Amino acid sequence: MTELDAVVVGGGFYGARLAFMLGGLGQRVLLVEREAELLARASLRNQARVHNGYHYPRSILTSLRSRLNYARFSDEYADCVDRSFPHYYAVGKRMSKITASQFSEFCRRIGAPLTSAPAAVKKLFDADRIDSVFEVEECAFDATKLRRRVARELAISGVEVALKTEARRVARRGDDGAVVTLERDGDEFHVECELVLNCTYSRLNRLLVDSSAAPIPMKHELTEMALIQPPPELGGAAVTVMDGPFFSMMPYPSRGLFTLSHVRYTPHCSWHDAGDTPIYDGDPLLSSRASRFVHMASDAARYLPAMRGARYVDSLWEVKSVMPRSEQDDSRPILLRRSAEHPACITVLGAKIDSVYDVEDALRKLLATDAPAVGAHA
Ligand SMILES: Cc1cc2nc3c(=O)[nH]c(=O)nc-3n(C[C@H](O)[C@H](O)[C@H](O)COP(=O)(O)OP(=O)(O)OC[C@H]3O[C@@H](n4cnc5c(N)ncnc54)[C@H](O)[C@@H]3O)c2cc1C
Repeated sequence: MTELDAVVVGGGFYGARLAFMLGGLGQRVLLVEREAELLARASLRNQARVHNGYHYPRSILTSLRSRLNYARFSDEYADCVDRSFPHYYAVGKRMSKITASQFSEFCRRIGAPLTSAPAAVKKLFDADRIDSVFEVEECAFDATKLRRRVARELAISGVEVALKTEARRVARRGDDGAVVTLERDGDEFHVECELVLNCTYSRLNRLLVDSSAAPIPMKHELTEMALIQPPPELGGAAVTVMDGPFFSMMPYPSRGLFTLSHVRYTPHCSWHDAGDTPIYDGDPLLSSRASRFVHMASDAARYLPAMRGARYVDSLWEVKSVMPRSEQDDSRPILLRRSAEHPACITVLGAKIDSVYDVEDALRKLLATDAPAVGAHA
């Protein structure tokens, strides 16, 4: 049996960053990922927006944390972000939870740059449905470049990476530490360690429940983002319509395309992990679904008629997982929780790519104080 300081389960951006952090502290770390590559799931199949605060007018705390983390992320990962496009936020006239003047005031309060969009851009929108259009500062990340970068950094820091390897369960090792059962190519083997980080995102509760630990209340959605060629009239701009049942169109740099997502049509179905209900595995839902691109594009065209010219290429399917609180106030809290049943196992959930910095700070504090549980919010 191999003995390690830490086993990090899940090689998405969170698991990779946290493994790198522990490796940098001189620990012997094994990072375990069930897919054939790092950053192959939610860290790849997402909207690629580096949030700069604009998106969360209903949660000032999330907006302020986003502002700080935006600067940090886009600086640290300057080689993995695309800043080459203009980004317009339009505010809906009807059904929006915010008016254009409230949005301006909110951006002023959080210190987020906001200017009126050029007249030629405003003209593209339907004036009966859109209150106002603003130009903002918000870039996109390239998940493929991010994957290459974290793989390089992990190799330098001496973290061992096991791909195509699934953590099946965690068991207690005496009074401290844990034994993790891993499976590769149908064979099971065990590793011992002092600390387990459960960074498996949509499968956090799968690992907990299979380890006879209590699940964390979570909401999951099967999501579709259409990958499109944008209409030429938009000149490569990103568009986000706030704040209600509207759409967003963002560059998706890792495929040289754009994503089109819609609050009403992107979630195909949803379910909750709670109490004693068996954990539902959403992964089989990811294949063979019918796209809702036509619904997304035709609704988007009511606000931005040029969207009729959007061309469908493909879809990104992923299980999106959030804490139930996010549903009420649209906040994006982070979670860092030590398991009562397995004190050596800490479960991590970050709601946005850049909130990894908040998770790292909270983890450092937790490891330094050895407190029983930490919950922080971003
Ligand atoms: C549709 C959608 C749109 C989004 N848009 C944005 C956005 O625009 N901006 C933003 O900042 N964030 C966005 N997010 C959120 C962002 O993608 C996530 O916060 C982030 O990617 C989570 O990273 P992670 O490493 O925790 O998860 P993942 O990247 O999913 O990593 C978890 C990894 O664990 C692996 N795994 C699971 N179980 C096991 C196991 N038992 N053993 C071994 N490996 C296992 C999985 O294969 C996976 O690779 C979006 C998410 C979705 C789904």
